Amino acid sequence: MDIKWELTAEERSELERNVFMVTLEQVKAWARSNSLWPLTFGLACCAIEMMGTGSSHYDLDRFGSIFRTSPRQSDVMIVSGTVTKKMAPVLKRLYEQMPEPKWVIAMGSCATAGGPYIKSYAVVKGVDQIVPVDVYIPGCPPNPAALIYGINKLQEKIRYEAKTGKKVMSE
Ligand code: SF4
Repeated sequence: MDIKWELTAEERSELERNVFMVTLEQVKAWARSNSLWPLTFGLACCAIEMMGTGSSHYDLDRFGSIFRTSPRQSDVMIVSGTVTKKMAPVLKRLYEQMPEPKWVIAMGSCATAGGPYIKSYAVVKGVDQIVPVDVYIPGCPPNPAALIYGINKLQEKIRYEAKTGKKVMSE
């Protein structure tokens, strides 16, 4: 028997308002981007601003970001401060201990490019020489609002990559 099922205008409008289709990758990206758990990597003065971001005034938790102290529980590394050549192998090792997928934020001009210590023999001229960086946040130091903006950019990037299947260059 051939059954014809016509939707009324009201049913069609209900359907359009309540049903949406996405891929599994997009759902995973939505969940991941709203539960980024940063591995704190405070190395100098920028770390004070990072700590301030987690305080009640800026309340980073509202974005689902909760600082972890173990690389095995983290999926984003926030490098905040001056990366010395002595610290570089430790940073790389901790990055390698983080499970995939994982991301890196370079917070401040030291982590981005060496900052005021660019001429020092002891400082790495940007953490991207050791690990891949997804988001760069300028400033000396960037304030908590700038870090939150950087985290928001990373969230957008994760969702965009899942939607389009394209890899976005570092921002
Ligand atoms: S960028 Fe400036 S505030 Fe941040 S760690 Fe370097 S010197 Fe300190």
